[in-house]
Amino acid sequence: MTRANYHTHTARCRHAQGTDESFVQSAIAEGYQVLGFSDHTPWRYETEFTSGIRMHADELPGYIHSIQSLRRQYADRIRIHLGLEAEYFPRYRDQLLQMMDMGIEYYIMGQHYLDTDESFPYVGVTTRTDDGVLRYADRVVEGIRTGLFQYVAHPDIFMRMRNPEDFTPACEEASRMICQASMEHHMPLEYNLLGLLSELEGHGVGYPSRPFWSAVAAMRPRVILGVDAHNPNHLLNHETLRVARAHLETLGLQILDCLDMDRSPS
Ligand SMILES: [Zn+2]
Ligand SMILES: [Zn+2]
Repeated sequence: MTRANYHTHTARCRHAQGTDESFVQSAIAEGYQVLGFSDHTPWRYETEFTSGIRMHADELPGYIHSIQSLRRQYADRIRIHLGLEAEYFPRYRDQLLQMMDMGIEYYIMGQHYLDTDESFPYVGVTTRTDDGVLRYADRVVEGIRTGLFQYVAHPDIFMRMRNPEDFTPACEEASRMICQASMEHHMPLEYNLLGLLSELEGHGVGYPSRPFWSAVAAMRPRVILGVDAHNPNHLLNHETLRVARAHLETLGLQILDCLDMDRSPS
């Protein structure tokens, strides 16, 4: 059994706190054997647009250097992976390949925008309508099929700005579409612990969505927990782990301890 988390941000995204090293130290203190950094992808936009929620493209080399240095420094205590949380924007797909050439090892898909944030609003706005929910699902399925991503982060983000009771037949269809595609590509779905923490603190963000997980449970998806750490303390929270495990157990869903890349050959 390997203790792993692949969803970790850094202060470069402008809405996370702590030094890169402090995330590593928290992970070690908590007993993680694997820590994957997956800060928000810096897109090189075709326009003058600058995003306020991700590092800028010129910060990427520093990110890569920092995480690679920590990987060497802590090699005897924890396995560190260098990744990014990325949307699937078809027009910028080649950038994902280019960043892999620079040293990025893996991507998790967090579809925060239906398409590039130069011209699309936050996905929660888009998915207020059923049509938007289905377009979101189509885009996520397309992303899964590229084979570029290790897992789908907060697949249920489409519930971000809907009430739980607004889980319409379109939401159910979208859930099944995403689950089906992820299973065909042996890709886990993430149960997002930061969303759960928000809920436990009384300001829920719509995910993890109970109806989403109920809708896909019978399909038996592979499930992985993602801390989505925006603060080193997020790695130390036990209550979210307890609640998540209890919820998934109720649904009869098993939790993967790590991704295949960290599974030792048996
Ligand atoms: Zn995200
Ligand atoms: Zn994230």
